[in-house]
Amino acid sequence: MNSASTRSTDVVVVGAGLAGLTAADQLAQAGHDVIVVEGRDRIGGRIHTVEVAGVAVDAGATWVAPHHEAVRDLARRFDCEFVPQFHQGKGVMSFGGKRKIESATAMAPWGMLDITRILNDLQKMVDDLPVSYPWEHPRAAHLDSMSLGEWLTSKHALKDTRKFLTMFSLVQWGAPVSDVSLFNALRYIKNLGGIEFMLTVEGGDQQDRVLGTTHKLVSRLADTLEDSLLVGSPVERITTLKDRLTVETGKDTIEARYVIVTASPTHRSTIEFTPALPQRHYGLSRSWRLGALSKAFVAYDRPFWRDEGLSGEGMSDDETVFLTFDVSPDADGPGILMVFCDARGFDAYDEAERRSRVMKHLIHLYGEPARRAIDYTDFSWGNDSFAPGGPNPAVGPKAWTTFGPFLREPVGRVHWAGSETADETSGSMNGAILSGRRAATEVADRLYAGQ
Ligand SMILES: Cc1cc2nc3c(=O)[nH]c(=O)nc-3n(C[C@H](O)[C@H](O)[C@H](O)COP(=O)(O)OP(=O)(O)OC[C@H]3O[C@@H](n4cnc5c(N)ncnc54)[C@H](O)[C@@H]3O)c2cc1C
Repeated sequence: MNSASTRSTDVVVVGAGLAGLTAADQLAQAGHDVIVVEGRDRIGGRIHTVEVAGVAVDAGATWVAPHHEAVRDLARRFDCEFVPQFHQGKGVMSFGGKRKIESATAMAPWGMLDITRILNDLQKMVDDLPVSYPWEHPRAAHLDSMSLGEWLTSKHALKDTRKFLTMFSLVQWGAPVSDVSLFNALRYIKNLGGIEFMLTVEGGDQQDRVLGTTHKLVSRLADTLEDSLLVGSPVERITTLKDRLTVETGKDTIEARYVIVTASPTHRSTIEFTPALPQRHYGLSRSWRLGALSKAFVAYDRPFWRDEGLSGEGMSDDETVFLTFDVSPDADGPGILMVFCDARGFDAYDEAERRSRVMKHLIHLYGEPARRAIDYTDFSWGNDSFAPGGPNPAVGPKAWTTFGPFLREPVGRVHWAGSETADETSGSMNGAILSGRRAATEVADRLYAGQ
């Protein structure tokens, strides 16, 4: 449904990511009229599929942890299957150009004393912090007064420890440790289940992938909405008129009783609200700036590294490549390495240069056979033309304690969802679903109450 129109509905949902589609689905199932309006010309938001060597791979969200029940429920509903993340064999680590084979996973080098000291110190602070209303914690102001980088300096973290935490920070927030508040890091780690869990494949955050990519989840959900979904329709203006709202895109005007905005907090400010939102909401948008993270996928005839007893898990302080994982569909091939790239050493270059940087480092990590790639593709979230940035906001010092209380506080008939607004598993697909369910329930309650 993409022709110009003026329509009327109970609820408009802004954004067709997992949070928006979940909210719309729940409201539709409860018998309410709902229209989803998506600015991109595709659904899924930070769930996006690209292809390498004819295989669909996840440019955005990939892994599902064992306790991510909301994602697992959705997968069950649509008969989507999971495949375990390949994890057999040894990892490869490269610090300062020195390549080393790790006995277990390269992702969690607990054997390195100083890293263990720092991670244990962080975890102790994490244990102490509540995820709901974290700004009420007695030490909130202190913990939110410094960046993760400043805290590492205060703890005299060694150079390799700092490099390790930088990689952690890049993959979680798409930003270096200097850009992320210590408080944000602690709350985020707590809400995802702790540091060890986050660094673990089997039994941890990286346990499973969705067979055929996570896009299956959003496309099946979107199918249930039929002609209630508008894509390629950025919402430009939301105007509240007493007991109704109008939502305007460049070509459509929709009248509604409620709106649920699921755009990431930083993108909320691209919408003009009348009357204007309370000022603190603009501060919130400015402070919840999304980081930038890029992924490359390199395909080979076979996952040759497995022959050498390697898992395909690599970790490196290279300025471009910092993590690799084996996402091959099959042991017989093609072999596919998913490569996490630091946007700062990647996004500014043309494809030939990006590819050359990735290949050079894969050859360093996996040897000469890595030269014989059969296909390559990449995706830079920071360079996306609409709603750029990912995977999570790099929330800097003082932002949580100043603006955190307003993340999901409704403003009149405008309600908020999106992974960032979840108290549990925020920053993941699971958090997105939970936030969509919560916002749909808030609005349904008001509709039932005849408001
Ligand atoms: C590289 C990367 C790796 C990740 N890895 C994982 C992982 O392994 N496991 C995991 O669980 N999660 C992962 N995530 C996080 C996960 O993708 C997100 O938490 C989740 O998909 C967010 O869903 P959402 O619906 O809240 O937001 P989004 O998916 O961002 O959806 C918001 C939608 O709103 C739209 N929008 C914005 N402004 C407007 C406007 N003005 N008008 C209309 N539409 C608008 C956007 O285009 C977007 O489609 C990853 C993310 C990235 C980027």
